Amino acid sequence: MFNDREIVCCQCNLGFVFSAGEQEYFDSRKLSHEPKRCQNCRVLERLRRSGKSTSTAFKTNCADCSQPTILPFQPKDDRQAYCNPCWKRRQDEESKSSPEAANF
Ligand SMILES: [Zn+2]
Ligand SMILES: [Zn+2]
Repeated sequence: MFNDREIVCCQCNLGFVFSAGEQEYFDSRKLSHEPKRCQNCRVLERLRRSGKSTSTAFKTNCADCSQPTILPFQPKDDRQAYCNPCWKRRQDEESKSSPEAANF
């Protein structure tokens, strides 16, 4: 059993939630370390590592929980931006509500 845990980001010093679902994922992949950075800092770190400018990062607020969130790209006008947990939750809900699509 996993429980949500709060971790302080080593980069921006903000607390973030290492969710039970994520812990399960880490465990299933035999990853013993826990994330040191919050979602937003991870996005920036990924851009930096791939040699891209972090200026392409798009700061916005999640359309669902209105948390400040950073996207590695600018969303199209008709698309709403979601933070990572909300986006995942929406994906889950979508696959549940349309099982035909999930069978693909
Ligand atoms: Zn951070
Ligand atoms: Zn959200």
